[in-house]
Amino acid sequence: MRPKTNSLTSDRSVVPPLSGREFLDASVHAESGGDDAWRESMRTAIRSASELRQTLNLPAASGAEGDADADYDFPVFVPREFAARMRAGDSNDPLLRQVMPLWHESNTPPGYQSDPVGDLAANVAPGVLHKYEARALMITTGACGVHCRYCFRRSFPYNQAGSRADAFVPSIDYLRQRTDVEEVILSGGDPLTMTDSAIDELLTKIEAIEHVQRVRFHSRMPIVIPSRVNSFLIHRLRQSRLVAWMVVHSNHAAEIDAATAEALARMVDAGIPVLNQSVLLRGVNDEVGALEALSRALLQCRVIPYYLHQLDRVAGAAHFEVATERGRELIGQLESRLPGFAVPRYVAEIAGEKSKTRL
Ligand SMILES: *Cc1c(COP(=O)(O)O)cnc(C)c1O
Repeated sequence: MRPKTNSLTSDRSVVPPLSGREFLDASVHAESGGDDAWRESMRTAIRSASELRQTLNLPAASGAEGDADADYDFPVFVPREFAARMRAGDSNDPLLRQVMPLWHESNTPPGYQSDPVGDLAANVAPGVLHKYEARALMITTGACGVHCRYCFRRSFPYNQAGSRADAFVPSIDYLRQRTDVEEVILSGGDPLTMTDSAIDELLTKIEAIEHVQRVRFHSRMPIVIPSRVNSFLIHRLRQSRLVAWMVVHSNHAAEIDAATAEALARMVDAGIPVLNQSVLLRGVNDEVGALEALSRALLQCRVIPYYLHQLDRVAGAAHFEVATERGRELIGQLESRLPGFAVPRYVAEIAGEKSKTRL
């Protein structure tokens, strides 16, 4: 991993002061693969358990534990560049475990449900979740660059959220009326699966709301499809009157390969603060060594570990849960090994609370 060597570092002085439509035109051919390379990654992503097994040289499913190719109403979606970071032939690979459907998903113990964090009660306008003071979250799209089996929005009714189809009018109207909202969080789905022009249009609308000062992206795209951090995105965020923050989502150091490190560096070099949130997941990162390696990899990329989330009890994800006692123990061990700012806050999201809850 060589996070500090990237083509943009030396080019900073020549970033042109373009605006609006010009960015879209100027940026298209700016990088190898072009600004649209990421869309090809979306088109060619792996879309079934059997294809995933073939790609990784895993034995064909025996069917002994139910229908091995079932997707439990949540289709498989794994970009090939993400699958390339997994160890071939290892069905316990920590990256594979996040995306491979298992028969355990049909097991829903008491307490696991479709809306574990009270999203529907916080759905104040189509496409807006407003739970916390001064910040509101927009569901911009249901599309994602990877389908994580533990996703707490795997059953979210995206068809009732805002969308580009309604030009985000109801969401934007709500944000305009709520003068106490100073920060808009773009979430989904993944907001960076929107096209460059859709992002441009949405940002333009948010920029027109005077009381909004910051825009925050919650996205896994820089991790799973790093080419999404294209020159359009960098230019558009630099040019915005809003201060832009990026919160990415990585759970394991093996997710951060050279291309991802470079994508993170492009943002940090452009002055965009980047934070990471993770989910504590059994069989993925529930060992102190795994969490420590993740924090160190993030530090090398100048990304600050922000949250370590306790698993939300969404139906289908029970096999990922780690007891909070174990989580606290892991955080204690991390504190003795890492700089203070490299230890994420261990939190749970409890429906109805005014913030995430420290554990
Ligand atoms: C998690 C979350 C936020 C962001 O919380 P921070 O603690 O500011 O990171 C905002 N809105 C909703 C609905 C959330 O679930």
